[in-house]
Amino acid sequence: VNVIGVLTSGGDAPGMNAAIRAVVRTALKEGIKVKGIRRGFLGLLEEDIYDMEYKSVSDIINRGGTILHTARCPEFVKPEVVEKAAQVCKKHGIEGLVVIGGDGSFRGAADLAKHGINTVGVPGTIDLDIACTDYTIGFDTAVNTAIQTVDKVRDTSTSHERCSIIEVMGRHAGFIALWCGIANGAEDILIPERYDYDEQHIIDKINRRRETGKKHYIIINAEGIGDSHAMAERIEKATGMETRATIIGHAQRGGSPTARDRVYAAAMGAKAVDLLRKGASNRVVAHVKGEFVDYDIAEALAMTKDINQYMYDLSKRL
Ligand code: ADP
Repeated sequence: VNVIGVLTSGGDAPGMNAAIRAVVRTALKEGIKVKGIRRGFLGLLEEDIYDMEYKSVSDIINRGGTILHTARCPEFVKPEVVEKAAQVCKKHGIEGLVVIGGDGSFRGAADLAKHGINTVGVPGTIDLDIACTDYTIGFDTAVNTAIQTVDKVRDTSTSHERCSIIEVMGRHAGFIALWCGIANGAEDILIPERYDYDEQHIIDKINRRRETGKKHYIIINAEGIGDSHAMAERIEKATGMETRATIIGHAQRGGSPTARDRVYAAAMGAKAVDLLRKGASNRVVAHVKGEFVDYDIAEALAMTKDINQYMYDLSKRL
């Protein structure tokens, strides 16, 4: 390969810049030219493409967000749109493409591969919800951002003897909530994978704890559980304990990436280039049982992942 492209797509995640940097630098070292594609598949269609040099990725390893920006491009599900994107790649000499994003982005990458562009996906999402890999870029930073916020809410929750519901990100996945819940010593962790919507159980537990003299109560909700403010109102009404909901929101998507996110991003970005150099296509980079590996995209998308039962049980025991 002489020329590759790199783009970030779907939801952004801290560490994406470190991955871009690794792609650019490892490719340039091998004499491969790199085209940066701004705003994901949308920018590809609009030919928002520029030549990336060694210096294009200076001073970004420590920065959150993505210097390439990201976007959603819903029309990419149409074969004629993918065909057009493949033509744009060919026009710019792009033979291989690194797609940093989540499952949706990998679907787009798989479609492009069918049109003769070699594609490799790199898992970037704070939610950790990519089945083929134990690790996704951004998760560690997001969890660390969230636990710091929960620590702060806990202080004021204790002062005021309140019940606090803190909602973290994860519409379909409870990984951030579970990690936060364990790291913050929350009384309850509600995640979409396990929640049976038995609010009365929580209310009874709060009442029992109050009888033993407990001054505050922390519940971590994954976003997918539902309206945390409405839940706070119901709990306050049922228990008489002042209850407030805090939604951490997009802060979890930003910030300087942790060492773990930077290092995994660096390794995954470099591996994507190694795969393209070998002529591989329609692959996704993954971290499984301590090793950096790769899978066929279709095979990866067919996999399923559940939260670790041991970790979930542990959260209940503590
Ligand atoms: P993520 O990559 O984080 O899962 P999305 O699901 O929003 O985020 O997907 C990002 C982009 O990938 C979409 O805007 C679209 O351009 C492309 N994409 C998503 N699903 C498909 C699909 N089924 N076929 C082709 N492209 C897709």
